[in-house]
Amino acid sequence: MSEPETDLTKTYDAVIIGSGAAGGMAAHVLSSHGLQVLLLEAGKKLPIEQELRSMEWPYDNAHRGYLPPESHSLTFNEYTIRNPPYGAGLEKAQHLRSYVGSSDYVKNIVVDERENPYTGTNYAWVRARCLGGKTNIWGRLALRLSDYDFKAKSRDGFGEDWPISYSDIAPYYDKVDLYLGIMGVKENLPHLPDSIFQRPQKLNCAEVTLKQSLQKMGRVLTQYRAGVTSEGLKHNKYRSRCYGRGACERKGGCDIHAAFDSPTGLIYPAMDTANLSLRTNAVVREVTIDPQTGKASGVRFIDSQTMKDYTVRAKVVVVAASTLESARLLLLSKSRWHPNGLANSSGHVGHNFCEHLMGPGVTGRAKDLIGKPSTLDDGRPGGFYLARFRNLSEKQPKFIRGYGFEGGSGCSMFPRGTDTHGFGASFKEEVRKNQGAYISMGAFGEVLARYENFVDLDPVVKDKWGIPALRFRYKFGDNERRMAEDMKETAQEMFEAAGFEIVHVRNRVLTEGWSIHELGTARMGNDPKTSVLNQFQQSHDVKNLFVVDGSAFVNASCQNPTWTIMALCWRSCDFLADELRKGNL
Ligand SMILES: Cc1cc2nc3c(=O)[nH]c(=O)nc-3n(C[C@H](O)[C@H](O)[C@H](O)COP(=O)(O)OP(=O)(O)OC[C@H]3O[C@@H](n4cnc5c(N)ncnc54)[C@H](O)[C@@H]3O)c2cc1C
Ligand code: SF4
Repeated sequence: MSEPETDLTKTYDAVIIGSGAAGGMAAHVLSSHGLQVLLLEAGKKLPIEQELRSMEWPYDNAHRGYLPPESHSLTFNEYTIRNPPYGAGLEKAQHLRSYVGSSDYVKNIVVDERENPYTGTNYAWVRARCLGGKTNIWGRLALRLSDYDFKAKSRDGFGEDWPISYSDIAPYYDKVDLYLGIMGVKENLPHLPDSIFQRPQKLNCAEVTLKQSLQKMGRVLTQYRAGVTSEGLKHNKYRSRCYGRGACERKGGCDIHAAFDSPTGLIYPAMDTANLSLRTNAVVREVTIDPQTGKASGVRFIDSQTMKDYTVRAKVVVVAASTLESARLLLLSKSRWHPNGLANSSGHVGHNFCEHLMGPGVTGRAKDLIGKPSTLDDGRPGGFYLARFRNLSEKQPKFIRGYGFEGGSGCSMFPRGTDTHGFGASFKEEVRKNQGAYISMGAFGEVLARYENFVDLDPVVKDKWGIPALRFRYKFGDNERRMAEDMKETAQEMFEAAGFEIVHVRNRVLTEGWSIHELGTARMGNDPKTSVLNQFQQSHDVKNLFVVDGSAFVNASCQNPTWTIMALCWRSCDFLADELRKGNL
């Protein structure tokens, strides 16, 4: 796929900043509407198939798939005991990566932490600066939110309701399902609405045992709702259907693009319309402002390779740099018109920052499966999802909101979690005998959106391109701590009820940021005094500015956010195109 030259002398209808789930979707929708669009991406266009090498065997890799010795990826202790900017004490490592960048396959996809420092409170910030952003390596769990999430304040009094209901976004979830493909099974749950699913994957033996046991408790375990096409997509020549190679789990991505990623799912088809131009290595440092009107006039960016500065003009600016980078960019874009940062008359940019709590979980063993012949369970893009069951019809005395579990079981090519010690033939025999019996799951819970959890700009520290770094002021609170206790207890209780032998109960809460589901730094709302964007992710202050990523979330819910980011973005970009046509922007 060759990139056409970008013309920086013309005024585009829209310039989009960032090419991940949000930027890719904006590019798809706006170019489909016939707008002339420029997409600017800070990172490189990587030869992603050569990075992921889904079918490479460990023995064909110089480091057996691990990082080369000159690189280091941050560990739990390093994130938690040390303080950002991370790197002190690790000077021997030439390249420093986030915890996700611990494999040879992902090392070039995630950023070098030293080039991209941040400061403040402990936070495991995972960033992918390349075409497609984090969608190249996302975990594929594609869930919808419901009115239990959109109207959570009405239910428990905390925070704010969203300015939209499920019925507003449902048609757009449908569009995302059909355009990108999703596997799963209908469950008719009001709190976890169904998608329009393609053929699902199968649950294996221990998973079915757990599912049946949970039914007696009124809880629902369902097949992993994977943002993966199992039946193929006739309208997309860049993606293959899933061949069940399980490599996305092992390598972190899918080199035949059965799993959704933004370049093959959205950007390349958009470029085929000839309405979309793409420029990579373009680090946007500021949204520029028309001094006469106070409206956005375009953006200023640095070429990350040549360090040269450029500006480009556009009628509309669409910020989609990911929740935290978008907040950073708005705060960086100070002007006479917007002295507090762009779109920030409310003072809420960077605030109400929320995400998911991770850590507590359980590993067990289905004893009746020990010694049974191996089964082919490995070729799946995910295991199971156990839907939220807290604070739905009942009210928990100790915490509000809820959590779900992701998990899996079964035999795999490289058995994991078998808890077996030893070596030689007897070790192999033990692993073979036990591996299919292990089952494990971990929780993802809602972190409350609180004004006092926020990011701002560090007054001193800058990144490699001289741009002020982000400073975190973010901590889990009591609700999260009490929820984590409950996660651990219910995980154990559910495994015991299913008759599993408990091997290990995890009660450690992972460092803030670990979920990689950061949200809420420019929340939407009806009141410009307490929100940054309206229901179409349009700035209250600057009509021709849209922020279409997870920044707009009012609360995090406990469901993974990417499908919602894309559905919201689609809805907002339809609105944007319409308003532009009517001359309202
Ligand atoms: C290992 C992993 C597992 C995950 N699992 C799941 C999952 O199972 N389910 C789920 O829903 N979500 C999951 N996620 C999260 C998911 O990837 C994100 O929600 C999604 O990618 C967010 O899309 P985005 O467009 O907001 O951000 P990104 O995908 O991060 O894209 C943002 C893009 O903007 C670019 N950018 C940033 N700053 C600038 C700038 N100044 N100028 C120009 N460009 C800029 C970046 O380089 C990047 O390419 C996972 C993420 C990871 C890393
Ligand atoms: S299981 Fe499917 S989605 Fe995962 S790597 Fe294999 S083909 Fe790709």
